[in-house]
Amino acid sequence: MELRDSFGRKIDYIRLSVTDRCNLRCIYCNPGNASRCSLNPGKMPKFEKITRFLRVARKYGLKKVRLTGGEPLLRKDIVHLVREIKAIGIEDLSLTTNGLLLPFFATELKMAGLDRVNISLDSLNPDRYGSITGGGRLGDALRAIREAEKVFWPAPVKINMVPIKGVNGDEIRGFAQMTLENLFHVRFIELMPVGGSAFEEMRITSGEAKDAISSMGGLLPLGRSGSSDNYALPGAKGVIGFISPMSGHLCDSCNRLRITPAGKIRPCLFSDHEQDLNTASTEDEMERLLLISVLSKEKGSLLKRAVQFDTMQQVGG
Ligand code: SAM
Repeated sequence: MELRDSFGRKIDYIRLSVTDRCNLRCIYCNPGNASRCSLNPGKMPKFEKITRFLRVARKYGLKKVRLTGGEPLLRKDIVHLVREIKAIGIEDLSLTTNGLLLPFFATELKMAGLDRVNISLDSLNPDRYGSITGGGRLGDALRAIREAEKVFWPAPVKINMVPIKGVNGDEIRGFAQMTLENLFHVRFIELMPVGGSAFEEMRITSGEAKDAISSMGGLLPLGRSGSSDNYALPGAKGVIGFISPMSGHLCDSCNRLRITPAGKIRPCLFSDHEQDLNTASTEDEMERLLLISVLSKEKGSLLKRAVQFDTMQQVGG
Protein backbone atom coordinates (compact mmCIF):
# COMPACT_ATOMS: atom_id res chain seq x y z
CA MET A 1 0.00 0.00 0.00
CA GLU A 2 1.19 3.50 -0.66
CA LEU A 3 -0.03 7.00 0.08
CA ARG A 4 -0.70 9.45 -2.75
CA ASP A 5 -2.00 12.95 -2.21
CA SER A 6 -4.58 14.70 -4.40
CA PHE A 7 -1.83 15.81 -6.77
CA GLY A 8 -0.32 12.34 -7.22
CA ARG A 9 2.68 12.91 -4.98
CA LYS A 10 3.81 9.80 -3.10
CA ILE A 11 4.09 10.46 0.64
CA ASP A 12 6.67 8.26 2.34
CA TYR A 13 8.49 10.65 4.68
CA ILE A 14 7.53 12.03 8.10
CA ARG A 15 9.41 14.79 9.82
CA LEU A 16 8.77 14.44 13.50
CA SER A 17 9.44 17.32 15.86
CA VAL A 18 9.85 15.91 19.35
CA THR A 19 10.16 19.13 21.34
CA ASP A 20 9.88 22.88 20.94
CA ARG A 21 12.59 23.45 23.53
CA CYS A 22 16.03 24.46 22.36
CA ASN A 23 19.37 25.11 24.01
CA LEU A 24 20.23 27.75 21.39
CA ARG A 25 18.33 30.77 20.07
CA CYS A 26 19.26 31.10 16.42
CA ILE A 27 18.29 34.48 15.02
CA TYR A 28 16.47 33.13 11.97
CA CYS A 29 14.72 30.20 13.64
CA ASN A 30 13.06 31.95 16.52
CA PRO A 31 13.09 35.62 15.57
CA GLY A 32 12.19 37.86 18.45
CA ASN A 33 13.16 35.03 20.76
CA ALA A 34 9.51 34.02 21.17
CA SER A 35 10.18 31.45 23.84
CA ARG A 36 12.87 29.17 25.05
CA CYS A 37 10.53 26.63 26.55
CA SER A 38 6.84 26.91 25.95
CA LEU A 39 4.88 23.70 25.52
CA ASN A 40 3.52 22.05 28.58
CA PRO A 41 4.94 18.49 28.40
CA GLY A 42 1.40 17.23 29.15
CA LYS A 43 0.33 18.49 25.72
CA MET A 44 2.95 16.49 23.89
CA PRO A 45 1.91 13.05 22.69
CA LYS A 46 3.58 10.15 24.43
CA PHE A 47 6.28 8.37 22.44
CA GLU A 48 4.13 5.25 22.48
CA LYS A 49 1.38 7.07 20.59
CA ILE A 50 3.85 8.45 18.08
CA THR A 51 5.33 5.03 17.34
CA ARG A 52 1.84 3.52 16.96
CA PHE A 53 1.02 6.23 14.44
CA LEU A 54 4.27 5.63 12.57
CA ARG A 55 3.52 1.91 12.51
CA VAL A 56 0.18 2.67 10.83
CA ALA A 57 1.99 4.93 8.34
CA ARG A 58 4.56 2.18 7.73
CA LYS A 59 1.74 -0.04 6.45
CA TYR A 60 1.11 2.69 3.89
CA GLY A 61 4.72 2.74 2.74
CA LEU A 62 6.42 5.14 5.19
CA LYS A 63 10.17 4.77 4.51
CA LYS A 64 11.85 7.75 6.01
CA VAL A 65 11.62 9.56 9.36
CA ARG A 66 13.60 12.58 10.50
CA LEU A 67 13.62 13.68 14.14
CA THR A 68 13.87 17.38 14.72
CA GLY A 69 12.73 20.17 17.05
CA GLY A 70 13.52 22.50 18.86
CA GLU A 71 16.57 20.52 19.80
CA PRO A 72 15.63 16.83 19.63
CA LEU A 73 18.44 15.75 21.95
CA LEU A 74 16.76 17.67 24.77
CA ARG A 75 13.82 15.27 24.72
CA LYS A 76 14.14 12.69 27.44
CA ASP A 77 14.28 9.10 26.18
CA ILE A 78 15.21 10.10 22.64
CA VAL A 79 17.38 6.97 22.36
CA HIS A 80 14.38 4.83 23.29
CA LEU A 81 12.28 6.58 20.64
CA VAL A 82 14.94 5.91 18.00
CA ARG A 83 15.01 2.23 18.93
CA GLU A 84 11.21 1.95 18.75
CA ILE A 85 10.99 3.74 15.40
CA LYS A 86 13.76 1.66 13.84
CA ALA A 87 12.00 -1.50 15.04
CA ILE A 88 8.96 -0.55 12.93
CA GLY A 89 11.10 -1.11 9.85
CA ILE A 90 11.87 2.50 8.87
CA GLU A 91 14.61 2.36 6.22
CA ASP A 92 16.10 5.79 6.75
CA LEU A 93 16.03 7.27 10.24
CA SER A 94 17.86 10.56 10.71
CA LEU A 95 18.06 13.45 13.13
CA THR A 96 18.75 17.17 12.78
CA THR A 97 20.62 18.71 15.69
CA ASN A 98 22.72 21.68 16.66
CA GLY A 99 25.16 19.04 17.91
CA LEU A 100 25.83 20.47 21.35
CA LEU A 101 24.66 17.31 23.12
CA LEU A 102 25.54 14.89 20.35
CA PRO A 103 28.87 13.64 21.74
CA PHE A 104 26.97 12.38 24.81
CA PHE A 105 24.44 10.41 22.77
CA ALA A 106 25.99 9.59 19.39
CA THR A 107 27.07 5.99 20.08
CA GLU A 108 23.83 5.09 21.87
CA LEU A 109 21.78 6.63 19.07
CA LYS A 110 23.72 4.72 16.45
CA MET A 111 23.29 1.46 18.35
CA ALA A 112 19.58 2.15 18.70
CA GLY A 113 19.28 2.40 14.92
CA LEU A 114 19.83 6.04 13.95
CA ASP A 115 21.27 6.03 10.43
CA ARG A 116 22.68 9.52 10.14
CA VAL A 117 22.62 13.11 11.38
CA ASN A 118 22.41 16.63 10.04
CA ILE A 119 24.23 19.22 12.12
CA SER A 120 23.40 22.91 11.88
CA LEU A 121 26.43 25.14 11.58
CA ASP A 122 26.13 28.72 10.38
CA SER A 123 29.60 30.12 10.94
CA LEU A 124 33.20 29.00 11.32
CA ASN A 125 33.99 32.12 13.30
CA PRO A 126 33.58 31.59 17.06
CA ASP A 127 32.24 35.09 17.85
CA ARG A 128 29.86 35.05 14.95
CA TYR A 129 28.68 31.52 15.76
CA GLY A 130 27.97 32.79 19.27
CA SER A 131 25.93 35.75 18.11
CA ILE A 132 23.93 33.81 15.48
CA THR A 133 23.05 31.08 17.98
CA GLY A 134 22.51 33.28 21.01
CA GLY A 135 25.52 32.07 22.95
CA GLY A 136 26.55 28.73 21.42
CA ARG A 137 30.21 27.69 21.32
CA LEU A 138 31.66 26.86 17.93
CA GLY A 139 34.06 24.33 19.48
CA ASP A 140 31.08 22.27 20.71
CA ALA A 141 29.52 22.13 17.25
CA LEU A 142 32.82 21.19 15.60
CA ARG A 143 33.40 18.47 18.19
CA ALA A 144 29.93 17.08 17.39
CA ILE A 145 30.74 16.99 13.69
CA ARG A 146 33.97 15.04 14.29
CA GLU A 147 32.20 12.62 16.62
CA ALA A 148 29.34 12.10 14.13
CA GLU A 149 31.86 11.39 11.37
CA LYS A 150 33.31 8.52 13.40
CA VAL A 151 30.14 7.09 14.84
CA PHE A 152 27.88 7.22 11.76
CA TRP A 153 30.55 6.32 9.20
CA PRO A 154 30.11 5.51 6.31
CA ALA A 155 27.01 7.76 6.31
CA PRO A 156 28.26 11.28 5.58
CA VAL A 157 27.59 14.04 8.09
CA LYS A 158 25.31 16.65 6.57
CA ILE A 159 25.98 20.22 7.60
CA ASN A 160 23.06 22.66 7.33
CA MET A 161 24.07 26.27 6.72
CA VAL A 162 21.62 29.15 6.23
CA PRO A 163 23.55 31.94 4.46
CA ILE A 164 22.33 35.44 5.33
CA LYS A 165 23.51 38.74 3.85
CA GLY A 166 25.43 40.85 6.32
CA VAL A 167 25.58 37.95 8.80
CA ASN A 168 27.49 34.98 7.36
CA GLY A 169 27.12 35.38 3.59
CA ASP A 170 30.88 35.92 3.27
CA GLU A 171 31.48 32.37 4.58
CA ILE A 172 29.86 30.47 1.71
CA ARG A 173 33.19 29.75 0.06
CA GLY A 174 34.74 28.68 3.37
CA PHE A 175 31.94 26.17 3.90
CA ALA A 176 32.27 24.90 0.31
CA GLN A 177 35.99 24.50 0.91
CA MET A 178 35.32 22.08 3.77
CA THR A 179 34.06 19.56 1.21
CA LEU A 180 37.46 19.40 -0.49
CA GLU A 181 39.08 17.39 2.30
CA ASN A 182 36.08 15.99 4.16
CA LEU A 183 33.25 13.63 3.28
CA PHE A 184 30.72 16.20 4.51
CA HIS A 185 27.58 17.15 2.66
CA VAL A 186 27.38 20.91 3.12
CA ARG A 187 23.85 22.09 2.39
CA PHE A 188 23.03 25.74 1.85
CA ILE A 189 19.41 26.38 2.85
CA GLU A 190 17.58 29.49 1.69
CA LEU A 191 16.36 31.62 4.56
CA MET A 192 12.63 31.13 5.06
CA PRO A 193 10.44 33.85 6.52
CA VAL A 194 9.12 32.60 9.84
CA GLY A 195 7.77 34.08 13.01
CA GLY A 196 6.74 37.48 11.71
CA SER A 197 10.25 38.47 10.75
CA ALA A 198 10.75 38.22 7.02
CA PHE A 199 14.47 39.03 6.58
CA GLU A 200 13.42 39.19 2.94
CA GLU A 201 16.23 41.48 1.85
CA MET A 202 18.81 39.40 3.75
CA ARG A 203 18.13 36.12 1.97
CA ILE A 204 20.88 34.68 -0.20
CA THR A 205 19.30 32.57 -2.91
CA SER A 206 20.76 29.26 -4.04
CA GLY A 207 21.69 30.95 -7.32
CA GLU A 208 23.69 33.58 -5.46
CA ALA A 209 25.36 30.96 -3.25
CA LYS A 210 26.27 28.94 -6.34
CA ASP A 211 27.77 32.03 -7.99
CA ALA A 212 29.91 32.65 -4.92
CA ILE A 213 31.31 29.11 -5.16
CA SER A 214 31.67 28.69 -8.92
CA SER A 215 34.88 30.74 -9.05
CA MET A 216 36.47 27.97 -6.95
CA GLY A 217 36.69 25.68 -9.96
CA GLY A 218 33.25 24.96 -11.35
CA LEU A 219 30.55 22.87 -9.74
CA LEU A 220 29.96 19.39 -11.13
CA PRO A 221 26.25 18.48 -10.98
CA LEU A 222 25.43 15.26 -9.09
CA GLY A 223 21.65 15.35 -9.35
CA ARG A 224 18.91 15.72 -6.80
CA SER A 225 18.50 13.89 -3.49
CA GLY A 226 15.33 14.76 -1.56
CA SER A 227 15.02 18.53 -1.57
CA SER A 228 18.71 19.13 -2.24
CA ASP A 229 20.32 19.87 -5.63
CA ASN A 230 23.77 18.39 -5.29
CA TYR A 231 27.13 19.34 -6.77
CA ALA A 232 30.83 18.72 -6.10
CA LEU A 233 33.93 20.80 -6.55
CA PRO A 234 36.53 19.10 -8.78
CA GLY A 235 38.48 16.54 -6.74
CA ALA A 236 36.38 17.11 -3.63
CA LYS A 237 35.61 14.30 -1.18
CA GLY A 238 32.34 15.84 -0.11
CA VAL A 239 29.16 17.21 -1.64
CA ILE A 240 27.61 20.67 -1.82
CA GLY A 241 23.82 20.84 -1.78
CA PHE A 242 21.44 23.72 -2.36
CA ILE A 243 17.99 23.65 -0.78
CA SER A 244 15.77 26.26 -2.34
CA PRO A 245 12.40 26.55 -0.59
CA MET A 246 12.05 30.16 -1.78
CA SER A 247 13.50 30.30 -5.29
CA GLY A 248 12.97 26.64 -6.28
CA HIS A 249 9.98 24.39 -6.82
CA LEU A 250 10.32 22.02 -3.90
CA CYS A 251 6.55 21.62 -3.44
CA ASP A 252 6.18 19.76 -6.76
CA SER A 253 8.17 16.83 -5.42
CA CYS A 254 7.26 17.11 -1.73
CA ASN A 255 6.89 13.66 -0.18
CA ARG A 256 6.41 14.54 3.48
CA LEU A 257 4.09 15.09 6.37
CA ARG A 258 5.09 16.76 9.61
CA ILE A 259 4.21 16.15 13.22
CA THR A 260 4.61 19.17 15.50
CA PRO A 261 5.79 18.87 19.12
CA ALA A 262 2.16 19.30 20.22
CA GLY A 263 1.19 16.23 18.20
CA LYS A 264 -0.48 18.02 15.29
CA ILE A 265 -0.09 16.30 11.93
CA ARG A 266 0.55 18.91 9.25
CA PRO A 267 0.69 18.32 5.51
CA CYS A 268 3.19 21.18 5.19
CA LEU A 269 5.38 23.27 7.49
CA PHE A 270 3.19 26.26 6.74
CA SER A 271 -0.20 24.59 6.45
CA ASP A 272 -3.06 25.36 8.81
CA HIS A 273 -4.81 22.06 8.12
CA GLU A 274 -3.87 20.16 11.23
CA GLN A 275 -5.05 16.82 12.59
CA ASP A 276 -4.56 16.26 16.29
CA LEU A 277 -2.85 12.98 17.05
CA ASN A 278 -3.80 13.38 20.71
CA THR A 279 -7.45 12.77 19.80
CA ALA A 280 -6.74 9.32 18.35
CA SER A 281 -6.59 6.31 20.60
CA THR A 282 -7.10 3.40 18.20
CA GLU A 283 -5.16 2.47 15.09
CA ASP A 284 -8.31 2.98 13.00
CA GLU A 285 -8.53 6.56 14.24
CA MET A 286 -4.85 7.10 13.52
CA GLU A 287 -5.30 5.71 10.02
CA ARG A 288 -8.17 8.14 9.46
CA LEU A 289 -6.03 11.11 10.56
CA LEU A 290 -3.19 9.94 8.33
CA LEU A 291 -5.43 9.72 5.27
CA ILE A 292 -7.11 13.09 5.95
CA SER A 293 -3.70 14.72 6.34
CA VAL A 294 -2.43 13.32 3.08
CA LEU A 295 -5.58 14.27 1.20
CA SER A 296 -5.54 17.80 2.60
CA LYS A 297 -1.96 18.38 1.43
CA GLU A 298 -1.95 21.61 -0.53
CA LYS A 299 -0.37 21.88 -3.97
CA GLY A 300 2.19 24.36 -2.68
CA SER A 301 3.10 28.03 -2.40
CA LEU A 302 2.25 28.26 1.29
CA LEU A 303 5.54 29.97 2.01
CA LYS A 304 4.03 33.30 1.04
CA ARG A 305 1.94 33.09 4.16
CA ALA A 306 4.80 32.06 6.38
CA VAL A 307 5.53 35.55 7.62
CA GLN A 308 2.48 35.45 9.85
CA PHE A 309 3.34 32.02 11.03
CA ASP A 310 4.93 30.24 13.97
CA THR A 311 8.63 30.07 14.57
CA MET A 312 10.57 27.14 13.14
CA GLN A 313 11.28 26.04 16.69
CA GLN A 314 7.54 25.66 17.40
CA VAL A 315 6.74 23.61 14.32
CA GLY A 316 9.99 21.73 13.78
CA GLY A 317 12.46 22.65 11.06
N1 SAM B 1 17.84 22.26 16.83
C1 SAM B 1 18.13 21.52 15.65
C2 SAM B 1 19.15 22.22 14.80
O1 SAM B 1 19.62 23.28 15.19
O2 SAM B 1 19.50 21.67 13.76
C3 SAM B 1 16.90 21.12 14.83
C4 SAM B 1 15.85 22.13 14.62
S1 SAM B 1 16.25 23.42 13.47
C5 SAM B 1 14.71 24.25 13.44
C6 SAM B 1 16.32 22.52 11.95
C7 SAM B 1 16.89 23.26 10.78
O3 SAM B 1 16.01 24.31 10.41
C8 SAM B 1 18.25 23.87 11.03
O4 SAM B 1 19.20 23.32 10.15
C9 SAM B 1 18.05 25.33 10.75
O5 SAM B 1 19.16 25.89 10.11
C10 SAM B 1 16.80 25.35 9.88
N2 SAM B 1 16.08 26.60 9.97
C11 SAM B 1 15.55 27.16 11.07
N3 SAM B 1 14.97 28.35 10.78
C12 SAM B 1 15.12 28.53 9.46
C13 SAM B 1 14.74 29.56 8.56
N4 SAM B 1 14.09 30.64 8.96
N5 SAM B 1 15.06 29.41 7.26
C14 SAM B 1 15.74 28.33 6.84
N6 SAM B 1 16.14 27.32 7.64
C15 SAM B 1 15.84 27.42 8.93
